[in-house]
Amino acid sequence: MKKIGVLALQGDVREHFFAIENCESIPSEVKRPTDLQNLDGLIIPGGESTTIAKLLRIFDLFEPLQKTLKNGLPVYGSCAGMILLANKIIDGTSDQETLGAIDITVKRNAFGRQVDSFEQELIIPAIDNNPFNAIFIRAPWVEEIGADVQSLADLTTSSGKVHSVLARNKTVLVSSFHPELTGDLRVHRYFIDKIC
Ligand code: GLN
Repeated sequence: MKKIGVLALQGDVREHFFAIENCESIPSEVKRPTDLQNLDGLIIPGGESTTIAKLLRIFDLFEPLQKTLKNGLPVYGSCAGMILLANKIIDGTSDQETLGAIDITVKRNAFGRQVDSFEQELIIPAIDNNPFNAIFIRAPWVEEIGADVQSLADLTTSSGKVHSVLARNKTVLVSSFHPELTGDLRVHRYFIDKIC
């Protein structure tokens, strides 16, 4: 059984714990640098990216985490987690730091405010051809995507532009939406089985 850490400083940690357990894997809380040892993978949950970034500094986790990811620990970030893993952020706060683990530029709160949150069925061909009910809550989208990054699902916005909302490189998976809120384990299984 794989041991999957969940960064547990803020956000929907519990929901990812349940999803990991339901994927027959072992979840463990990451709050200190030592918690990063002996993991097969890590999840950075949804929440508030500015707050999580500040807490990473306060808990002396920012650099250890960045180094662990550079050394190849597989990581999945949902929503705020996607923002934290991106190389660049549009509409972040002026002092907002990112871990820079995947070559994408993300636009924060890209779909609008909290009231503009929505659900949308997505097809994720890398997983299967059955629609995935994706929940977007004050979500980011991918504005620019690097050469070593593959989009796994796109969404066409009201203005007709296409943006990736699920993407990966070799060790990093990011989603704009929250599979941990749906009970549909396919994205978590993809991460644990194919990337970890
Ligand atoms: N808008 C939030 C942020 O910037 C992310 C929202 C979420 O994780 N649901 O961090």
